[in-house]
Amino acid sequence: AKENGRKQFIIYADEFGENVNEKFELTNNLYDALNKEQFLLNYQPQVDLHSGKIVGVEALIRWQHPTKGMISPAKFIPLAEETGLINPLGLWILRRACLDRKQWLDAGIQDIRVAVNISIKQFQQDNFVETVLDILEETGLDPTYLELEITEGIAMNKHQDVIKKLTLLKEKLIYVSIDDFGTGYSSLSYLKELPINQLKVDQSFVQGICDGNYQILQSIITLAQAMQLNVVAEGVETKEQAEMLKEFKCSIAQGYLYYKPMPAEDLLAVLNPYNLT
Ligand code: C2E
Ligand code: CA
Ligand code: CA
Ligand code: CA
Repeated sequence: AKENGRKQFIIYADEFGENVNEKFELTNNLYDALNKEQFLLNYQPQVDLHSGKIVGVEALIRWQHPTKGMISPAKFIPLAEETGLINPLGLWILRRACLDRKQWLDAGIQDIRVAVNISIKQFQQDNFVETVLDILEETGLDPTYLELEITEGIAMNKHQDVIKKLTLLKEKLIYVSIDDFGTGYSSLSYLKELPINQLKVDQSFVQGICDGNYQILQSIITLAQAMQLNVVAEGVETKEQAEMLKEFKCSIAQGYLYYKPMPAEDLLAVLNPYNLT
């Protein structure tokens, strides 16, 4: 509920619509889900548009609910943030992704980063960087294999704290991407001070590029080049989009055209032919 200008209360319909009961029930279930091992990570490869090679994978969480089936993170991540469960859950995600990446390394797969989505509450923890480094040490994964995705919203908030944390991560050679770029009204002068490596252009700016709506995407690519940042186009679904992205000199693409998110076991089979030749 939020107060509007006339001091009336308005209930905003969220993903759950009117169904407050479902929200309540899921929130309760969320607490057990970690202990009951109902979460799993899927991985979606990212492809170099010019060589066609896989250059990274993004970890995407799934909740296998015992009665409701697969539940989308768009639905439960906000609940986890509201309840504070995002902190233990975020740790679980980081640890799982590092363990999986370590396993692929042991299977001979080099040169590929695993990207982990970080939520704002997680990033704003005082000991966030320390926690990441602890997990790397504990899992034995070299920091150069880890990428963190933080949204534009996180990057623009509490500027000095963000710079401090990103600088520490950079010192350890952890790669950092700004996720959903273009949706958050970035201040360019802030952006330019951030020690980051890559921009991930939100899929909403990729969707319409073949219907004449390519100007925003093109400007983001130009901006990234000027700042010497890599660009990943998200949500690439058609060959026509991929061709256009190549023309615009976008370096990396991610989307259903190439691969859908898949369980870790399937990913190993996809990666093998690329790296064991
Ligand atoms: P995101 O980080 O922007 O992730 C990209 C979303 O786009 C994923 O949805 C992915 O499955 C989907 N996608 C990939 N390719 C295509 C495509 O070609 N077309 C379309 N239409 N969609 C595509 P998903 O897995 O449902 O995740 C939704 C959001 O939930 C993510 O958006 C992210 O904000 C959040 N999320 C997912 N996993 C995690 C996690 O481990 N931690 C945190 N904090 N958030 C996560
Ligand atoms: Ca992401
Ligand atoms: Ca994104
Ligand atoms: Ca998104």
